[in-house]
Amino acid sequence: MTCLESPSQNHRSGFVALIGRPNVGKSTLVNQLVGEKVAITSPVAQTTRNRLRAILTTPIAQLVIVDTPGIHKPHHLLGERLVKSARSAIGEVDLVLLLLDASEEPGGGDSFIVNLLQKQKIPVIVALNKWDLVLEKQRNSIFSEYKNLLSETIWPVFSCSAANGDGCEQLIKRVIDYMPLGPQLYPPEMVSDQPEKILLAELIREQVLLHTREEIPHSVAVKIDRLEEMPRSSRRKDSQGCIAVLATILVERKSQKGILIGRGGSMMKTIGKGARAQMQNLINGPVYLELFVKVAPDWRMKPSRLAEFGYADS
Ligand code: GDP
Ligand code: MG
Repeated sequence: MTCLESPSQNHRSGFVALIGRPNVGKSTLVNQLVGEKVAITSPVAQTTRNRLRAILTTPIAQLVIVDTPGIHKPHHLLGERLVKSARSAIGEVDLVLLLLDASEEPGGGDSFIVNLLQKQKIPVIVALNKWDLVLEKQRNSIFSEYKNLLSETIWPVFSCSAANGDGCEQLIKRVIDYMPLGPQLYPPEMVSDQPEKILLAELIREQVLLHTREEIPHSVAVKIDRLEEMPRSSRRKDSQGCIAVLATILVERKSQKGILIGRGGSMMKTIGKGARAQMQNLINGPVYLELFVKVAPDWRMKPSRLAEFGYADS
């Protein structure tokens, strides 16, 4: 038997929940750690809707990282489901990685999460993210402000930058120390447990968030209607097979549909172009993408719609 088939007896594996306020950089960290884009990120809060598991395989360990929607105050049915799913993730893992935004002073939202975690009997490691944005001369004082926030805990505190990778290696080393001994849970080449369809839909939603303003983001959902492999053309030997993606973007109001389509279809073009580029990156080959926009009033309030678009009540 080779070493690969039988990982050493010291191999560790386990589940890590990434917890933090919206926008602290959870999804960016997931992508940085697994080295591929599995979670979408954007400057708009509440980007992450589905609970996504990313898989990080190293020579000595395998971590299943659960990226959760940020914990925040719910405003409607979708919001409630997000919070429920983040809270339930805490109960299912070996370790919580609490991400805080070091580019801002600690605030009420941070104490809310710290209190919530203190009540759970689960190990926590803290990462002060966006450390690259903290000026050299302010680093000591920011660090002690956050130490203050955590004064009633014994949690180890690290600083890191999910954007450029600084500090991430040390952080992960420490995370691995907390994992129980165990074998690989997933094949080492797997980086996410999400079906490809969901990843592709998320890439489209990301472009919508990037290119539209406040009135759109929270009321948009994307569904992949068809995903097909087109064969190579038999006449042209040099042609490459491509993946055809047909997707529907769902919005709540007619006015939003107008914004998404844009003057002469210009917004659709921009979104399609961006999404297509990201998809080709993910798939590593050519993609043909067709997008439709549909109006479905109040889809966020309707359980059947939520389920159809993958926001299951679990
Ligand atoms: P999430 O809501 O916690 O998942 O946050 P995202 O990963 O979507 O990140 C929110 C925003 O912060 C995005 O614009 C990211 O590019 C940015 N961001 C995340 N991590 C860092 C970091 O370490 N440094 C800097 N400068 N920006 C970051
Ligand atoms: Mg996120």
